Amino acid sequence: MKTITQNKIWLSSPHMGGTEQKYVQEAFDTNWVAPLGPNVNAFEEALVKYVDQDVFVAALSSGTAAIHLALELLGVSHGDEVLCQSFTFSASANPILYLGAKPIFIDSERSTWNMSPKLLEEAIINRMDQGKKPKAIIAVHLYGMPYNVEEITRISKTYDIPVVEDSAEALGSSYRSVKCGSFGEIGIFSFNGNKIITTSGGGALVTRSEDVKKKAVFLATQARDEAPHYQHSKVGYNYRMSNVLAGIGRGQMEVLDDRVAARRANHEFYIDRLGDVQELEFLAEPKGYFSNRWLSCVLTPSYEKRERVRLALQEENIESRPLWKPMHLQPVFKGSMHFSDGTSEDLFRRGLCLPSGSNLETSDLERIASIIRTKI
Ligand SMILES: *Cc1c(COP(=O)(O)O)cnc(C)c1O
Repeated sequence: MKTITQNKIWLSSPHMGGTEQKYVQEAFDTNWVAPLGPNVNAFEEALVKYVDQDVFVAALSSGTAAIHLALELLGVSHGDEVLCQSFTFSASANPILYLGAKPIFIDSERSTWNMSPKLLEEAIINRMDQGKKPKAIIAVHLYGMPYNVEEITRISKTYDIPVVEDSAEALGSSYRSVKCGSFGEIGIFSFNGNKIITTSGGGALVTRSEDVKKKAVFLATQARDEAPHYQHSKVGYNYRMSNVLAGIGRGQMEVLDDRVAARRANHEFYIDRLGDVQELEFLAEPKGYFSNRWLSCVLTPSYEKRERVRLALQEENIESRPLWKPMHLQPVFKGSMHFSDGTSEDLFRRGLCLPSGSNLETSDLERIASIIRTKI
């Protein structure tokens, strides 16, 4: 048996900037070891400054929690229908089920791999003909590539159905020079360990309404009414971000632009070394789109070739992963309605996410590219 001597290359691992521990230490020094405090406020301010001065941000315990609160704040409840991009991570869709609502999955378009405006509109018309107007649209900027903001926003306005903008993978991406996270009625970010910046675990909700932010924080802190005793007239959650973890977030915000540049450079490297291979295909940025290239992905000609490359990388101690399995194919969402044309199924079959961390060395990238070149 072959022994593995090469160091492990991860798909996307945390990359600290250096000042995180200083802010964490501050939390300890001031005894703000709680789900509120100066780091939480400062992290929220840093996000506002980065995304858009006119937004309000609530730091939360996860991106999933942010989607859950977003749907609840938009009035989604038991029996409602919610339109959701099928080609995504399950966390985009799970909160629909938390609320007892029904997901309706929408397939992707080829140009961005995100929600197809055509299928979205078809689904809305179909549901409205049945007298069931969907309550919300969950659109995702997958792998950091913005969805078709102009068209999705137009449809949202035309039919008056709000968008929850799942920007979990797209902090630092922009569309026509406007940052992702600021387009939906409510936007969300994730700071999970594998994302472009991390607080080890965490998320945020973004809104243009101060009142919506207040309501989000209220729900995230057990929905405590104003009273000297503990008084509740609504069901609350424990979803606020810890002040310790927000300290990590503050440090990470200082290096966010470097992380975006490094991930984009990874993608450029793969194109430089593999762009001439006829059988490989990379997702180009349409005009006006700017992707943070959270993960660099490649399409191979077939499932068999995809697996051959993936297993060859694995053999060399290199982690890669098939593209997201569409939600309409997931056992947990079996029986859900979906509007699909085969696009996401095809991407899932042929696509592979390549190591994309901002901490990869050029020698790592060289190793990866040469294996792919010889195995394809
Ligand atoms: C990571 C992710 C989430 C969930 O974020 P968590 O912070 O892990 O809860 C949601 N949607 C997408 C597309 C993601 O990649």
